[in-house]
Amino acid sequence: MSHTSRRKFIRNGSLGTAGVLLSSGLLNNSLATSLNTSTAKPAILGGMPTFNPTDWVKWPVWLQGEDEQRFLDSVRSGVWSRNKIVTEFETTWAAMLGSKKCLTVVNGTNALITVMNRLDIGPGDEVITTPYTFIASIQAILANNAMPVFADIDPLTFQIDATKIERLITKRTKAILAVHILGLPADMDNIMRIAQKHNLLVIEDACQAHLAEYDHKKAGTIGKAGCFSFQNSKNLPIGEGGAIVSDDEKLIDQCYAAHNLGYGNATSTGSIAAESSMKAGKVRLTEYQAAIGLAQLKRLEAQTATRNSNAQYLTSMLKDIKGITPIKLNDKVTQGAWHLYAFRYNQEAFKGLARQSFIKALAAEGLPCSGGYKVMHTQEFMRDAFNSRVYKGFYTKDLLDFNKYRERSKCPENALLCNEAVWIPQNVLLGTKEEMEKIAAVIKNISNNADKIKH
Ligand SMILES: *Cc1c(COP(=O)(O)O)cnc(C)c1O
Repeated sequence: MSHTSRRKFIRNGSLGTAGVLLSSGLLNNSLATSLNTSTAKPAILGGMPTFNPTDWVKWPVWLQGEDEQRFLDSVRSGVWSRNKIVTEFETTWAAMLGSKKCLTVVNGTNALITVMNRLDIGPGDEVITTPYTFIASIQAILANNAMPVFADIDPLTFQIDATKIERLITKRTKAILAVHILGLPADMDNIMRIAQKHNLLVIEDACQAHLAEYDHKKAGTIGKAGCFSFQNSKNLPIGEGGAIVSDDEKLIDQCYAAHNLGYGNATSTGSIAAESSMKAGKVRLTEYQAAIGLAQLKRLEAQTATRNSNAQYLTSMLKDIKGITPIKLNDKVTQGAWHLYAFRYNQEAFKGLARQSFIKALAAEGLPCSGGYKVMHTQEFMRDAFNSRVYKGFYTKDLLDFNKYRERSKCPENALLCNEAVWIPQNVLLGTKEEMEKIAAVIKNISNNADKIKH
């Protein structure tokens, strides 16, 4: 295999061991020379960019030869509504997680909405969750007319700080929505202990945490139910798609009806002669989506292993750069999904270079990155919910006072993180060891040149 085709093969993501392969003497020349970037002029100051956009694994991965047959068969069959392939995907995903049951839906947001609805989380209820999450976690709570209550985050793990949950529990508290943000497990032992003590439900938002593990248990299988997203950017991409997993078979049966106009499992192909058992919408996955999902599942374990070893390697290098503090895993995490690689950026240690300028300098080197989430509780979508008739009917005026809500929801650690975080997307972690070294070298070089970049 030539260097280019070998590289292309690795780029396509078929190998979980790309780093090993490349470091075993097969390293190509252009890679080896560019390891010297730390003495070069940063790209933002007119130097050569360290990376080409084509260096990174193209996401989502799609292998024409391997992936397309199943998909084409399903499209050509004309059986497009949920049937055998969707069921196969559900069975496979449940088995990979060690969960009894899985139900697919149109996306992660609707997985959360559906399962919370079937767990009777509704108007008048409070759900405690993290402020450091994707907006969908919060929209799903609001969609059920419940009220999000924010517990501040742990500044080291960026996950909900379990020691801050108990003080927020009121007689209205019904559940904890435990988000494994960035694909890294939250402090589940303490969350489960508090939930048990106060008789609260735990729902896991594992929408970024495919195959992540806490104490050898897969994220999404620890609480009452877990939710996943298969949106295009996620580690298991279908474009759109989502799933609910649970060991409670009755709950999944209920969710089944809830995702299918109230029709139970036996009527999944849409028999209109049957009687419907509940008020419900319709949020079913299609056969060809499931065929894409099954293709993605074949490489998820190998990709996850690569992301873990690269993340660990990157952390070992970045932790020695002044002003960079890589995210720390909870002690009980046995595997990360690493949907995002995150670290804190300290502006002072970079001679006052603003985070946005630091991100620009990284982007100029060809490294995709961003500053991540914004503070959530000050956004208007919540006021919109609070102004609705159903909220006014179920919560006191005092609880719906939006200024007071904003005051109650203040989370200083989260606010700080929202100002300091830098994210690198998961497809970068599918690169080679040498690329991880180059990322560290680029950051070090920006640090060395911080003064010049600032001016
Ligand atoms: C992506 C995501 C969701 C929502 O999933 P969609 O499939 O995009 O609807 C929910 N929670 C978190 C944390 C996510 O990252």
